[in-house]
Amino acid sequence: MAEIIDGKEIARAIREAIREEAAALREKTGVTPGLAVVLVGDDPASWIYVRRKAQACEEVRFLSRELRLPADAAEGELLDIIAQLNGDDAIHGILVQLPLPEQIRTQAIIEAIDPEKDVDGFHPVNVGRLLTGNPGHVACTPRGVIELLDRIGVDIAGKEAVIVGRSNIVGKPLALLLLARHATVTICHTRTRNLPETTRRADILVAAAGRPEMIRGEMIKEGAVVIDVGINRRPDGGLVGDVAFAEAERRAAYITPVPGGVGPMTIAMLLGNTLAAARRIAAPV
Ligand code: NDP
Repeated sequence: MAEIIDGKEIARAIREAIREEAAALREKTGVTPGLAVVLVGDDPASWIYVRRKAQACEEVRFLSRELRLPADAAEGELLDIIAQLNGDDAIHGILVQLPLPEQIRTQAIIEAIDPEKDVDGFHPVNVGRLLTGNPGHVACTPRGVIELLDRIGVDIAGKEAVIVGRSNIVGKPLALLLLARHATVTICHTRTRNLPETTRRADILVAAAGRPEMIRGEMIKEGAVVIDVGINRRPDGGLVGDVAFAEAERRAAYITPVPGGVGPMTIAMLLGNTLAAARRIAAPV
């Protein structure tokens, strides 16, 4: 039976360390890390994520600011808010909650954020830095996955890593991080032929497809480390990952649960990126 990776507890320990580091920064420089979260519209899931981020900021004593725009807001209104936040010295991190309504071009918004304040790591400058091996802000969920692997002591170098999903926010940046740590990386997607054959090669298998329980037990190599990024809502309201947990648990050596695996790590990494941004702005090198 697999050992269950307690992302909730690991994330709690990381938040505690961040709280102490932020207190030390405040003591030394008078700077309190500040995160602004912008929400357009009233999608309930987005609203829950925004609340969680604000609560996490309170816990570590960051300044947190929530800005809300109506669902029919024009792109220009959002760009104005971003311009203000870019110039606001109390704000070190800016996060625009995705998805955005269709009248707003997501990429134009991402590119308007000052790359030094882009704590989501989505700006092309930060993506480029990651690609060329000189990372700035790195996307939070992929960073959280690497942190989990490190905390359970997985030696990534030389391992076969297979990622199911190639999005800009999870699959692609995670592939770059694993490659930088010398894994042999395969990225799968909807056109991948014979997915089970590919996933069965994985020493490290990451599911980030957004398809409830699509990774079945027989798709997993005995002794693999299985990281489930997926968050899917069941008809009864509960959450389920992309991995069929009960089957996978019998084959994997380590596995993350949903909820309580990758999710809490994403928020912990967001706080970490905001602290790093505050440090850079407080004491530029
Ligand atoms: P996207 O929908 O942007 O991307 C999904 C990817 O999975 C696509 O590349 C798609 O392939 C691939 N895919 C979908 N179905 C299959 C399939 N049957 N076989 C192989 N590949 C498939 O999703 P995100 O990356 O944004 O999110 C993925 C999941 O992770 C979601 O459940 C999301 O809720 C969750 N998530 C969790 C976070 C956390 O904090 N834990 C943070 C972010 C996301 P193709 O490109 O060919 O369409």
